[in-house]
Amino acid sequence: MASGNAGKLREIARILQGLDVEVVAQSEFGVTDADETGTTFVDNALIKARHAAEATCLPAIADDSGLSVDALDGAPGVYSARYAGPDATDESNVDKLLDALRDVPDAERGAAFHCVACFVMPGEEDALIAKGEWRGSILHERRGVGGFGYDPVFLDPESGVASAELTPDKKNARSHRGKALLKLQELLRARFG
Ligand code: IMP
Repeated sequence: MASGNAGKLREIARILQGLDVEVVAQSEFGVTDADETGTTFVDNALIKARHAAEATCLPAIADDSGLSVDALDGAPGVYSARYAGPDATDESNVDKLLDALRDVPDAERGAAFHCVACFVMPGEEDALIAKGEWRGSILHERRGVGGFGYDPVFLDPESGVASAELTPDKKNARSHRGKALLKLQELLRARFG
């Protein structure tokens, strides 16, 4: 698994537990994060998965994800992790987002989480690629203590609560990452049985 993000790793391992595979973080093999130089979620997911597969000679799964806010023309998008700068934290990213939307009314606070999950085999050019989206809106202040990243300010319209207020299973059932990884599971089953 080509990620060093503990929150994402927890979610991904939980979603893939139905497959007969062992999910091991790349850090367990001493592999460090690839530079995310792509400009799309697909580009970055492939960069990360290929980096991990080459370094370990093992099949690799990667995801690239982010939050696109309507009132910010889709920002922070692929730059979600670094929205508040190179040393950004979840805390500073959320602060910057709340600040940017300070005067934006409820009706214009729509947003969507996006996720691209991909699987590559070492030495193979072809990849399995699956996408997921989760539409919601941005709250005026933080709610809840679960999840990671922008979860405390992302309102899930169906349940009426912040993503950080959902249990891990409920979040996975609704989320962009849950949807993308379920699709990836289907592609993996179709390819490997
Ligand atoms: P990545 O590691 O390059 O895919 O960056 C993803 C970034 O998008 C994370 O660091 C978070 O800031 C944000 N993000 C992606 N998925 C979620 C989520 O499920 N909840 C909250 N924030 C998320």
